Amino acid sequence: MARRRTGPTDVVKAIVYDRDGGACVRCGTREGLTVHHRVNRGMGGAREPWINQAHNLLIVCTVCNGWFEDNPRESYEAGWKVRRPQLPGEVLVRYPDGREYLLTPDGVRAPMAVTR
Ligand SMILES: [Zn+2]
Repeated sequence: MARRRTGPTDVVKAIVYDRDGGACVRCGTREGLTVHHRVNRGMGGAREPWINQAHNLLIVCTVCNGWFEDNPRESYEAGWKVRRPQLPGEVLVRYPDGREYLLTPDGVRAPMAVTR
């Protein structure tokens, strides 16, 4: 029985893993990692081409993945989650080094000056 393929390709997952240094973007652990969607795939989202592109994906551990669901306000603030109609390329993401970055569809992580 074939499972429906709705997630990112292995190539995209490898790009995201390299971009994020093989560590959870929230806590920095290298264990129990998974790929997290910033804009989730609900409501037909899987049909949008960017949903499985690198800028919508983060490497996170399973603990932080659950934390995002329990702490939506902080998660949106840090860019770990993105709320429609905002797009993942427009929202800065906080990394464990304390800096915030803009992500591009081709897997680049561009540092931004911290103004706070
Ligand atoms: Zn984590």
